[in-house]
Amino acid sequence: MKRIQTVLVANRGEIAIRVIRACNELGIRTIAIYSKEDIFSLHRYKADEAYLVGEDKSPVDAYLDIESILHIAKSRNVDAIHPGYGFLSENLNLAKRCKEEGLVFIGPNTEHLSMFGDKINARAQAMAAGLPVIPGSEGPVNSLEEVKAFADCYGYPFIIKAILGGGGRGMRIVRTPDALEESYSRAKSEAKACFGDDQIYLEKLLEFPKHIEVQILGDQHGNIVHLYERDCSVQRRHQKVIEIAPSLSLPDDLRHAICDAAVRLMTKVGYVSAGTVEFLVTPDHKFYFIEVNPRIQVEHTITEMITGVDIVQAQLLIADGASLHDEEIGIPDQACISCNGHAIQCRVTTEDPANQFMPDTGKINAYRSGGGFGVRLDAGNAYAGSVITPYYDSLLVKVSTWGLTHKSAIAKMKRCLNEFRIRGIKTNIPFLYNVVAHEKFLHGTYDTSFIDTSPELFV
Ligand code: ADP
Repeated sequence: MKRIQTVLVANRGEIAIRVIRACNELGIRTIAIYSKEDIFSLHRYKADEAYLVGEDKSPVDAYLDIESILHIAKSRNVDAIHPGYGFLSENLNLAKRCKEEGLVFIGPNTEHLSMFGDKINARAQAMAAGLPVIPGSEGPVNSLEEVKAFADCYGYPFIIKAILGGGGRGMRIVRTPDALEESYSRAKSEAKACFGDDQIYLEKLLEFPKHIEVQILGDQHGNIVHLYERDCSVQRRHQKVIEIAPSLSLPDDLRHAICDAAVRLMTKVGYVSAGTVEFLVTPDHKFYFIEVNPRIQVEHTITEMITGVDIVQAQLLIADGASLHDEEIGIPDQACISCNGHAIQCRVTTEDPANQFMPDTGKINAYRSGGGFGVRLDAGNAYAGSVITPYYDSLLVKVSTWGLTHKSAIAKMKRCLNEFRIRGIKTNIPFLYNVVAHEKFLHGTYDTSFIDTSPELFV
C-alpha cells in the first residue's frame, strides 16, 4: 500500500501542471492552490481539487503562505507536498513544518536543503568530496577591507555573490579597483532586498566558461545515479534561456569526469530526491563546482527526453520510499541509463526582445502552438483568452525538441518556433529563433558570454 495517495502542489504555472500530470499517471489525487490573481489560471483546473490561498497576501506571498498551505493540506487529507521550483521549493521551514505535521515533503531532506541553500557551505561540501572549486573567499566577507585584501591576493576580475543567492540574482562582477566600493555596497543591498540576508562572498571570475550541470537522482536506500549533463550556457544576465542535453563540445573523458564528480559529491552527503550539481568549464577544459540545486529544475524536460526517465515521477516514488532499482522507477544501475539523441529546451517568455526584454502583460488574443514529432510543450497559461498579469515570472511555455542529432533537434525547434502564432502579447520567440539558427549554436562553440557578445541575435 502506497503512503502517498494525495499530493498538494504548492506552486503555479507550468511546473504545477507538470507535477499534477506526473501524479495523475501514478494514480495520485492532486490538490492545487491558487492566489486570487490566479483565479483563472490553468493549473487549478488540472488538479482534482483547488483551493484559494493567501487571500489577504500579495500575489507572490500567497504561494509562500506556509501555514495556510498546511491548513489546506491537513483539512484535505493530503499525504505529501510537492513544491515545484521557485517559491517554497528550497524552504527549510516548509520541510520542517511538513515533518511536524506528519506530511511528506517531496524533495531532499532538511539537512541537504540547508547544506546547499548556503553557497559557502555547499563549496565546503564540494571541497570535502574532492571537487575542484573556483578560488574564492573562505567564508562570508564582512567589510570592504576584506574585499580589497581578496583583490590584492587574487587580482581582478572577481565576482561578489550573495550567500543565499539564486536565480542569477545577487551577483556583481568587479573588473577594476575603482568599481570595488560601489559594487560591494550594491551587492550587499541587493542581497538583502532579494534574499533577506546581506551576507556575501567572493569568487574569481572565470572568463568565457560553459555552464554544465549534472542531473542526479538519489533514493532513501543510498542509491545515487546521474542522468547525464545539460549545457546551460545560453544565458542572459546569468539566467538560463536555452538548454541542451547532452553537451556538445566536451571531450568524453571530461564529460565522464564531471558526471563522476557530481555523483561523488551527492553520494558523500547521502543525497535523496532529484538534484542538480552545477559546474563551470573553462576554455582550457578545467571544470569547477559552483552549486547544487536541491529541487526539480525548469530544464529537467530535456534530460527526460534523452534518458526516458520521468524525473518528477521518480521524485514522487522516491519520497514514497521506492528504490531506484524498483520496477516503477526502473534504474537497476548506472549502466542501464542510456543517453539517446539530443534535446533542446527554449524558454518562451512574454518579454519583448525589441525592448530590452521588458515583460509584456495583457490578453492573449490568438494562440496557436507548434507541435509534431519530437516536440514537447510544457505550458502555464498559454491559450487564447488568457490574461498575462505582471505578478509572476514571464515564462509562458517551455518548448523542448528531440532529434537523433543536435542538428535535427535544431531543425525541429526552428520549425516549431516558426509555427507559433501568439497575438495580443509580445514574446521572445524571434530572439530564441535567432539563437537556435546561429552557427555557434549549431556547433556548440558558445559560452556564457554568447548573448552579450552577439548583437546579431537581436535583429
Ligand atoms: P544562481 O544560484 O543565482 O543561479 P550560480 O552560482 O549558479 O547562481 O551562477 C549563475 C551563472 O552566473 C553561471 O551559470 C555563470 O554564467 C555565472 N557565474 C557564476 N559564478 C561565476 C564565476 N565565478 N565566474 C564566471 N561566471 C560565473
